[in-house]
Amino acid sequence: MITINDNYLKLQASYLFSDIAKRVASFQKNHPEIDVIKLGIGDVTKGLPPASIEAFHKAVDEMANDASFKGYGPEQGYDFLRDAIAQNDFQARGADIQADEIFVSDGAKCDTGNIQELFSTDITIAIPDPVYPVYLDTNVMAGRTGIFENGRYQGLVYLDSTKENNFIPALPTEKVDLIYLCFPNNPTGSTISKEELKTWVDYAKDNKALILFDAAYEAFVRDENLPKSIYEIDGAKEVAIEFRSFSKSAGFTGTRCAYTVVPKECMAYDKEGKSHSLHSLWNRRHCTKFNGVSYPVQRAAAAIYTKEGKAQCKALIDYYMENAFTICQTMDKLGYKYVGGDNSPYIWIEGNMDSWEFFDMLLNKAGVVCTPGAGFGKCGEGYIRISAFNSHEKVQEAMQRLTKALG
Ligand SMILES: *Cc1c(COP(=O)(O)O)cnc(C)c1O
Repeated sequence: MITINDNYLKLQASYLFSDIAKRVASFQKNHPEIDVIKLGIGDVTKGLPPASIEAFHKAVDEMANDASFKGYGPEQGYDFLRDAIAQNDFQARGADIQADEIFVSDGAKCDTGNIQELFSTDITIAIPDPVYPVYLDTNVMAGRTGIFENGRYQGLVYLDSTKENNFIPALPTEKVDLIYLCFPNNPTGSTISKEELKTWVDYAKDNKALILFDAAYEAFVRDENLPKSIYEIDGAKEVAIEFRSFSKSAGFTGTRCAYTVVPKECMAYDKEGKSHSLHSLWNRRHCTKFNGVSYPVQRAAAAIYTKEGKAQCKALIDYYMENAFTICQTMDKLGYKYVGGDNSPYIWIEGNMDSWEFFDMLLNKAGVVCTPGAGFGKCGEGYIRISAFNSHEKVQEAMQRLTKALG
């Protein structure tokens, strides 16, 4: 008899985006004249940088000729991309990361989901609440949790991000082995200072723990005092793995390219307490289960590190940040409390009511779609997430409608 991995039965079906779609469809049916504006999704809306498109086209043409054709490439990514990443994203900011510590992949979703394979099933895991659901669900699938009860999985340590702690969780009071952090944060848009991040690095060192740092939104960090990478913190190389993606920084959500940094110094331990290099374990996993990102996509990604590419990406982020500013201004005027929107494309707004009630109010009174915070975890109740990923025109129109409806 073929039996299933019954950990899958513990998973909570996520109705968040299908519930949103249902409510929007029903509203649209009753109000066909209203142009609903979607500020809910976490997907970019603008085209790829021209430098990437040019490199993409050129690489596709190379594939047409036997002489320049590329078959399987190195699983970890081509040197031209790994070198550009190490130099521009790390060494230029004083973080000593080498090209061979970079593993190019087809997404930070897969990488943040797959990384847990390297660790024992009996470790203690700390996961933020609210959270990007991938960290949570992949550990449920792997059997690292108990059942779901009262809105939470048993056996996990939840790191509450609330207004009381400025949406930066406190260090766990119990001993944990694996810690997920994401800054700038999805969904709250909160950022972490170097000093605060240092306390996590120190915790990890003191407890022989490991930090998984999701920096998918680093491109939105404009405050020079804020860290873009955890490797800007002294000692982080021994205790942290970092995830990056071209999805939000260069519009690659549909093109697919990302990378994971596993420094050679980064260690985990066997049952006897002997240390093992996570770099070699991840390399083994990556080469066994992954055959590399397509050559034209890696060329398109490398092009964002050219002079033109950098300027175009900056303009892309500036465009979304103008939207974030417009949204924040409106919330200030309306008297809502929020976090995010200054070094992040997300604005996390306190509604003084149930998340879904707040969602329905914005939809019914203004035809604006947001994301109810409760969909990201218990601590998200009472909040909504508004995203800056849309056109200036749509965001301005949405904010005018909100001002009229709620002002
Ligand atoms: C969008 C996002 C990613 C990037 O995922 P990709 O698979 O690279 O597109 C990673 N982490 C978080 C928190 C995100 O919101």
